[in-house]
Amino acid sequence: MHRTDLPEKTVERTILYKRLLLNLQKSGQQTVFSYQLAQLAGNSAEQVRRDLMQIGFSGNPKKGYVIKDMLNAIEAVLNNPFRQPIILIGVGNLGKAILSYFTYQQPHINIVAAFDRDINKVDRVIAGCRCYSTDAMEEIIVRENVRLAILTVPASHAQEITDRLVYLGIKGILNFAPVPLKVPDTVICEHLDIMLQLEKLAFLTQVK
Ligand code: NAD
Repeated sequence: MHRTDLPEKTVERTILYKRLLLNLQKSGQQTVFSYQLAQLAGNSAEQVRRDLMQIGFSGNPKKGYVIKDMLNAIEAVLNNPFRQPIILIGVGNLGKAILSYFTYQQPHINIVAAFDRDINKVDRVIAGCRCYSTDAMEEIIVRENVRLAILTVPASHAQEITDRLVYLGIKGILNFAPVPLKVPDTVICEHLDIMLQLEKLAFLTQVK
């Protein structure tokens, strides 16, 4: 089942529940009450129960939910990125750090190829991932049926690469370049802007 009608916030909370449930499972716990999960997630028991209802999970709230069953229900709803082929474009400082992180810390994330236009990086394995020329993007996206891309190119090149990715059928882009990208409604772009978040934090924590 793939439920694209779930509100974005519910999806975000569900991903967080999954992470928390896996931690509980690791520590040997087999059942969990909604108030316990709520405490860990920083929200309310009502919210947890509403979210579970939205993903179609009904356990026994009085006895506690069986963690394994809840995880199965969550897995059935989320379109797990672990199984999806992903590409990264721009193997510079940030691109390399992300590739290293996935290769060595999150090996279940399947980065099938990296791309760069720098000939010194092309045809080399960098941080555990083969780097190809951007000319090979079409071939690899089609061959591997890639739908997700991570963008770590300079801001000045981000839109041009995005246009190409959209044309080649990419449906989700995780953008690290500090520039808003224009994409059609059929494509989702998540923007991670470290400077923007830092500036926001600095503003919100300033001494009045
Ligand atoms: P970088 O200059 O080290 O790397 C950029 C890479 O992109 C280079 O390898 C370059 O050859 C490649 N590239 C440039 N144009 C390209 C194109 N048209 N097609 C394919 N590859 C292309 O830069 P960086 O520090 O890794 O930053 C990358 C992006 O991430 C920038 O937009 C930057 O603002 C943003 N960012 C960086 C950091 C960081 O800590 N380094 C943090 C947050 C955001």
